[in-house]
Parts: sequence; C-alpha cells; structure tokens
Amino acid sequence: MYGNYICIWYNILSKAFTITKWEDKLHMSTRIYDCLKCIGEKIIENKDFLTDLDREIGDADHGVNMARGFTAVIEKTSPDDPDIGAVLKKTGMTLLSTVGGASGPLYGTAYMEAAKVLAGKDTLSAEDFKAALEAAIAGIQKRGKAEKGEKTMLDSLIPALDAYSAKIAEGGSLVDGLEKACEAAEEGIEFTKTIAATKGRASYLGDRSIGHQDPGATSATMTLEVIRDFLKG
Ligand code: ADP
Ligand code: MG
Repeated sequence: MYGNYICIWYNILSKAFTITKWEDKLHMSTRIYDCLKCIGEKIIENKDFLTDLDREIGDADHGVNMARGFTAVIEKTSPDDPDIGAVLKKTGMTLLSTVGGASGPLYGTAYMEAAKVLAGKDTLSAEDFKAALEAAIAGIQKRGKAEKGEKTMLDSLIPALDAYSAKIAEGGSLVDGLEKACEAAEEGIEFTKTIAATKGRASYLGDRSIGHQDPGATSATMTLEVIRDFLKG
C-alpha cells in the first residue's frame, strides 16, 4: 500500500522534472527543419522589402540573393536530417553556393559555424543557442573583418547576443533570451540608420549612407524573430 503511494509520488515528481527540462531544452531534431523553413518563408516573403533597402545603399539584390538561397535551402534540407548540426551544415553550404554577394559567404559561414557547435545535438538548451550565436558571429567577423558600428548585420547580431547572454545569465530561458535578443536587434536596425557604412558596398556612399537602414541587419533581425516566434509556438 505504501509502495503504491511512493510509486505515484515518484511518477508525479519525475514528470514535473521532465516538464521543467523540456521547457529548458527544446527538442529540435525534428523541428529544426520546420524552423529553417519558416526563416526561408519570411525571407522570401520580404524579398522585395530587403531588395528595396539594398537599392538605397547598395545594388538592389539582397532580398533576391537571400530568397534564392533559402528557396534552395528548403529544397535541400529535410525533416529526416539526423540532427540540428546536420541541418545547419547543409543550410550553410547551400547558402554559400547559392546566395552570392557579400551576404552569401557571410550567412553561409554563420550557419556552418553554428552547425559545428550543435553537431550531434537533438535538443537545444539556452546555453547551446548562446554558443551557436557566438560561433556564427565569430565566423561572420573572421570572414568579413567588420566590427560593430560599421553598418552591417553585426549591428543587430552583436547587441542581440549581448542581450541574450545577459538574460540567460540571470536565469532566463531560451525564449526569454530570444525576446531580449530581438529587441536589441531591432534597436540595432535603428542604429544603422544613424551611421555611415564603412564595410561592404554601402561604404562606397560614405556619409550618404546615413539615414538608411542596413539590409543585412534587417534580414538578421528577421531571422532571430522567426526563431523566437517558432520556439514560442
Ligand atoms: P552585396 O553587398 O555584395 O550586394 P548583399 O546585398 O546580399 O551583398 O548583402 C549586403 C549586406 O551584407 C549588407 O547590408 C551588410 O549587412 C552585409 N555586409 C556587407 N559586408 C559585410 C561585412 N564585411 N561584414 C558583415 N556584414 C557585411
Ligand atoms: Mg547587394
């Protein structure tokens, strides 16, 4: 009789524990493909908007480039890919070979560096996401040699990482961190309007690039917002 009670309590407690872990570590192996598909759809949906932003300070191809890349990503990745790293690696390689321009190698590298960090994983913890975003940004910086404040995608991504890290350091979940990351990334877009480009094609315009928002910071922010909304369910 007591044995039964112990057994019931054990079941209740172990379920509660599993639920807590579940919230913290989102099972992604089967969902990562769906998430990437959502990112792709968002980029494709905003093809003209991103291209128009690039028309103002570049060569009017950012949306077209990215939409072409993500159309290929959706075709080439599959829900049957074995783990998060495998899907991200395929995504990076596909972007690298199809996007072109400056953003192709930069986004391609970002996804491939994130893939290395998440190789073999089928769950995604708050710390995992931090490590992946750190690696993605390091990859972009290694390849593009830009810093924050040069009117690039880094002006959204670096503040997003800082805000994310601060939130999870105080015990926030993956989604809490992403909420803060997206707010910071949006502020990053606003910041790009106030500065002149010193990297990429927009730098040819010098001070004439002031007043325009950076297309890459915009697509990077969209990416984070899709991940946030996807994980919020
Ligand atoms: P391209 O400028 O070759 O036409 P895209 O239009 O596709 O390529 O992408 C432009 C975006 O790439 C810019 O808005 C900027 O955010 C990003 N970018 C350009 N150069 C760099 C760099 N060195 N580091 C980080 N991002 C960069
Ligand atoms: Mg361009």
